Amino acid sequence: MTITKDKVATFDYTLTSDEGEILDTSTGFEPLAYIHGHQNIIPGLERELEGKNSGDKFSCAVKPEDGYGVWSEDSVFTVGKAQFEEPDKITEGMQFEIETAQGHQPVSICKIEGDTVTIDANHPLAGKTLHFEVAVVDVRDATAEEIEHGHLHSEGGCGEGCGEECGEGCGCDCGHEH
Ligand code: ZN
Repeated sequence: MTITKDKVATFDYTLTSDEGEILDTSTGFEPLAYIHGHQNIIPGLERELEGKNSGDKFSCAVKPEDGYGVWSEDSVFTVGKAQFEEPDKITEGMQFEIETAQGHQPVSICKIEGDTVTIDANHPLAGKTLHFEVAVVDVRDATAEEIEHGHLHSEGGCGEGCGEECGEGCGCDCGHEH
């Protein structure tokens, strides 16, 4: 079967940087599954997967603008040390999550000078060209419900450990009553 819109594709991947450092890999873990055409994965990789078949192997380079975005100076800002719950425990290079209107955002501390802390809220992979080695494991049709929700349902349910009658707050983020 060929990967087109509304197909569920499962693939193994290894992601490396320009320097050849492995940034992420499915080796030793479960392959990644997603619904094609629903922005489940970064646009550059989704575009490369279009038209591929189960068993296909390929490599590709995804530019930052098609990956995790370009690095932006606007996402670097300073806050007072006192704003941290445990100001004595923060260190340069430390990573944590902040709440934004778009959900959880990973950020890192790039500099601590006196009482001023400089924070970088760019995605850790922003500005990086992503080199993927991909092996397509399986391609199947998505169910009508999966297409409607725009995400995968494992073993007939929506979200982990929730049955047919799940509503909000069960760990399912699809926003539908089941
Ligand atoms: Zn759902």
